[in-house]
Amino acid sequence: MNEADSRHLASQLETMGYTPCPLPEEADLVVLNTCVVRQQAENRIYGRLGSLKTIKHERPDMTIGLMGCLVGVKEAPALRKRFPYVDVFMPPSDSGPLIDYLQANDQVETLQLEEQRDRTLRDAIQDSKNLLPIEQRGKAVTAFVPIVLGCSHACTFCIIPYRRGLERSRSTDEIVAEVKALVGQGIREVTLLGQIVDRFGLDLPEPATLASLLREINAIAGLERIRFLTSHPNWMTDELLDAVAELDKVCPHLEVPVQAGNDIVLENMRRGYTVDKYYELIDRIRARIPHAAIHTDIIVGFPGESEAQFKDTYNLLETVQFDKVHISKYSVRPKTVAARRMPDDVSEKEKSRRRDLLDQLQRSSLTGKNQQLVGKTVSVLVESEQKGRWRGRTPHNKLVFFEDDSDLIGRIVDVQIDHAGPWSLLGKMIA
Ligand code: SAH
Repeated sequence: MNEADSRHLASQLETMGYTPCPLPEEADLVVLNTCVVRQQAENRIYGRLGSLKTIKHERPDMTIGLMGCLVGVKEAPALRKRFPYVDVFMPPSDSGPLIDYLQANDQVETLQLEEQRDRTLRDAIQDSKNLLPIEQRGKAVTAFVPIVLGCSHACTFCIIPYRRGLERSRSTDEIVAEVKALVGQGIREVTLLGQIVDRFGLDLPEPATLASLLREINAIAGLERIRFLTSHPNWMTDELLDAVAELDKVCPHLEVPVQAGNDIVLENMRRGYTVDKYYELIDRIRARIPHAAIHTDIIVGFPGESEAQFKDTYNLLETVQFDKVHISKYSVRPKTVAARRMPDDVSEKEKSRRRDLLDQLQRSSLTGKNQQLVGKTVSVLVESEQKGRWRGRTPHNKLVFFEDDSDLIGRIVDVQIDHAGPWSLLGKMIA
């Protein structure tokens, strides 16, 4: 989400005449786009703000903007007191305050016009968010496209609903226009984003679902691949799974966070499903999309999680054999139900032990899974060059590296796999 928000903002700033600057020490404007999903991410922001304060002390003319979940929809007044050297505060996905600030402070001379024109120009700047920033043109192959902003689910551990506001879908037309614009600038793969992406459309006046949106996007000429994340298990309808199975550009790759493998923990998290329901969903997915890559998220050390309950999560991972598991240690987030009512009673050391156990399990299960690809040919969309090798992904989101002398950025090529590790594959391009 933040990557997409930063891309939108960068394009708007370029329309206003700004150009990228590699060093904050030399920049006229620095924007920090922030994530607070875990305390560790939040701490990193304070570190960066500290070094910006020093720079601003020497160059008081520079503008500092703070964007994203640290600011949220209502934290700005408190932050203004705490960080007086920050000039502008922007909620997630809303660059408006910065654009207004730059206009109001004479930083954009062309915009000092009478009210009516001013409005038109502001709109023009807002609209330019569909462009790719100059630096990415001809280079970027994949892009994130937010389709549902905010979240109204309120899992007890999660700060996102407090910071990103109520769930709201963007309109189908707006999303399709953005994807078309991106494809026109060289993007070959889009990942549609939402906290509960499979709830797309439920709040729109016109009838729309994620399945109907996928159909529209699948028809865009020049686009090769479509992914979406993250899905909440309760909203993965058969209609959606059928669309994934049918539509040629939609990758067989699903991100369905389970968070825990024990019913009591799931209830304390207020996830709204049981382990059995989740197993049923896995069966439904595999019946329709037999080799689907299924990814998930896990939180270890949630308040009250006993050793036996953790074992249930371990067993779930062993049974499902996910293609990727994102594991987080539980982190207390202010104002959440868990922070107010459930003591953080699993020690840091124990959380690390549980995380490491799941990590080891995943490492060995992925090594086994990926070994089966050795000798096989996979289709790779080439995204970038890294240390003299091409780097790309398969439709199942496996990371592949291979060597070749020609320029392959944005191309889809066949690669025969020679080596497989848990996190990536190595192979040769087939002519
Ligand atoms: N909307 C998605 C997840 C978004 S946040 C969902 O419904 O699952 C991404 C991941 O961060 C979550 O899946 C969760 O595993 C992790 N996360 C969120 N809050 C957390 C917290 N307080 N402590 C640790 N991990 C957390």
